[in-house]
Amino acid sequence: MSKVEAFLTPEEEKEIISAIKTAEKNTSGEIRVHIEASTEKNHEERSLEVFHLLEMHKTKDANGVLIYVAVKDKKFVIFGDKGINDVVPDSFWNSTKDVIQNHFKNGNFKQGIVDGILKAGQELKEHFPWQIDDEDELSNEISKG
Ligand code: CA
Ligand code: CA
Repeated sequence: MSKVEAFLTPEEEKEIISAIKTAEKNTSGEIRVHIEASTEKNHEERSLEVFHLLEMHKTKDANGVLIYVAVKDKKFVIFGDKGINDVVPDSFWNSTKDVIQNHFKNGNFKQGIVDGILKAGQELKEHFPWQIDDEDELSNEISKG
């Protein structure tokens, strides 16, 4: 647990939340960040589990995106809901993954998450543009496990 607490300062958390708000101004897609120390499970499986725990599968257009980070394991997964995967190529998240990976490699965790969120927002914009009746369907707060 201490590992997760030490991962981001309160200021950094604020920056991440603000990045989510910025990204969601361009797209109806809903972005969430979940951070935990580690998991015994396969990280892909665990991200799917967290996605459901956070009830992210309930968005109107099935366009929720979870950025899952296991700090101690030094792993992250970008999990996009069905509505996104139905309309984008398999390579869709590659550029976002690269952005995050490059920062993580250099130990810049906060910047990796912030830039990853903003990149995901840009990518989503094309397929799921923001609309006037848009609702903030999922909390922008960081989830910690
Ligand atoms: Ca929204
Ligand atoms: Ca949101």
